[in-house]
Amino acid sequence: MRYGILADIHSNLEALEAVLAELDKRSVDEILCLGDIVGYGADPAECVRIIRERCRVIVCGNHDYAVFNDKILKFFKPAAKEAVLWTRNALSEEDREFLGGLPLKKSMEDMLLVHAAPLFPEEWEYVSNPEDARRNFNCFDEKMCFLGHSHVPAVFGLNEEVDACRISNEPVSFFSPRMRYIINPGSAGQPRDGNPDASFAVFDSSRRELKIIRVAYDVKTAAKKIIESGLPGVLARRLGAGA
Ligand code: ZN
Repeated sequence: MRYGILADIHSNLEALEAVLAELDKRSVDEILCLGDIVGYGADPAECVRIIRERCRVIVCGNHDYAVFNDKILKFFKPAAKEAVLWTRNALSEEDREFLGGLPLKKSMEDMLLVHAAPLFPEEWEYVSNPEDARRNFNCFDEKMCFLGHSHVPAVFGLNEEVDACRISNEPVSFFSPRMRYIINPGSAGQPRDGNPDASFAVFDSSRRELKIIRVAYDVKTAAKKIIESGLPGVLARRLGAGA
């Protein structure tokens, strides 16, 4: 089975369309979404519509969660909070209910799908380094955990025999059956690793091969729409910087 895996779309329609076109070229069997469909960008309703249509499994991100939960808003930076309030208005009641009904995590085959750290998914912690990863390996039984949230692509591998946890940024990884992995496919709609290209992953479960893929998209149009929508300008500028 070949899975396309994407996270952190953040209402960026131009990036989402570029990612899906690339996934179609690579003829994946199923697409999995790790959350944060909305927030920051100018096209939440269209992104929700497309993700619902194209993805077999979708888990809830903190920005999706914030659409229907006020308590989480105090943890958001001002521009992010402003974008949440704008997003609520731009979505239909049905879309808001859909986001409200998304699970925080989902287990399928030997994979766990979650948006933030699996240890306490509702606390929205990051898995950014081997120490974070090591803490989280203990709290799931599956071979692999796919997650998003940091907007930085990364592969953490745990070799339980020698108790070594390492991080790899290699675009192609061949998974050893003896190891367990935490994988972040990077962000489709707002990359933060200095590379503005949309990021996503293709995982071939029979060959146990993971590819992290980057695809250029129309950043200018996505940024222009943010400005024209009256969303904070910083959200447009960061797209070009990939930061
Ligand atoms: Zn995000």
